[in-house]
Amino acid sequence: STFQDLGLNDDLLQAITDLGFEKPSEVQQKAIPILLESETDLVALAQTGTGKTAAFGFPMLEKIDVASRTTQGLILSPTRELCLQITNEMKLYGKYCKGLNVVAVYGGSSITDQAREIKRGAQIIVATPGRMKDMINRRLVDISKIQYSVLDEADEMLNMGFKEDITDILSHTPEDKNTWLFSATMPREVSRIAKNFMHNPQEITV
Ligand code: AMP
Repeated sequence: STFQDLGLNDDLLQAITDLGFEKPSEVQQKAIPILLESETDLVALAQTGTGKTAAFGFPMLEKIDVASRTTQGLILSPTRELCLQITNEMKLYGKYCKGLNVVAVYGGSSITDQAREIKRGAQIIVATPGRMKDMINRRLVDISKIQYSVLDEADEMLNMGFKEDITDILSHTPEDKNTWLFSATMPREVSRIAKNFMHNPQEITV
């Protein structure tokens, strides 16, 4: 199939052409139609390098309202490097989505600067769990209107001991949001998160 077949809008298709992506990867072919066509939770078993950022990124960009400055999408990832990489990709994918602001939130960098960026209006926040929790506790960010949350590399986040931070962060988001969990492996801890925080997730494996 092609990116057009997946039902992506023209802004995204133009960005995809600019990037030189010729056809959707397997995880993209499986995840994008599900996420575009329904408001559902998703558990995706996928390794890094499979194109999973776009698999959740394209649907999120398609679904958020860029005319609003409210934070609608939250992507949690285990490390600062990954957080910055996802932020970069989301900006590239959303380059024609007028008014889009994607902000990276991670430790080891000025919290004041990150808070200032968020205050200007970030529809999407890409964050590491520790710094995100810190920002919530200091009331520097409002995630009470989140509609889409992504747990990227969920197994890694749990390995790194972020379980409590993740639980705490998700407790500040609406009950009726959609959660999309991506993980390379599915140990018990990850299934437990899926069970406790998600509602009848659809499942895909690549
Ligand atoms: P990810 O697994 O999301 O880290 O993506 C791995 C790399 O593949 C990134 O550099 C993406 O920009 C690139 N990529 C993602 N989707 C595609 C695609 N459909 N065709 C070619 N490259 C892609």
